[in-house]
Amino acid sequence: MARVRQKGTRAELQVASVLRSQSFFYRLNVASLPGSPDFANRKRRWATFVHGCFWHHHTGCKRATIPKTNEVFWQDKFRANRARDARSIRELRRRGFRVALIWECQTEDPAKLATRLLRPVGNSIIKEDTG
Ligand SMILES: [Zn+2]
Repeated sequence: MARVRQKGTRAELQVASVLRSQSFFYRLNVASLPGSPDFANRKRRWATFVHGCFWHHHTGCKRATIPKTNEVFWQDKFRANRARDARSIRELRRRGFRVALIWECQTEDPAKLATRLLRPVGNSIIKEDTG
């Protein structure tokens, strides 16, 4: 079964709204970078992933359920998704990118979301501007 990739999920729209409110420029679904980050700015060297808690199996999250039918299949699938996510983030960091990983369940409170999102991303701006 192919992974269903929803575009413009509610979580992604929330993240876009925070980035725009802070005047961050970004591209969406940047296929030229590892893992195709949902939001990225290559020049400023930051990337953001917005992960669905179910598909990426957010540890300890109530949305990260494992379907009872074909349980082994799903466990393998979630393990593969998580391994791929970790590889992408490592590779981006190796290239000097600041990476913010936002889980779907963390997008409900706009203030908390802004903090999680802008801590790594904002640092990259400061770092660049101060040399
Ligand atoms: Zn979650």
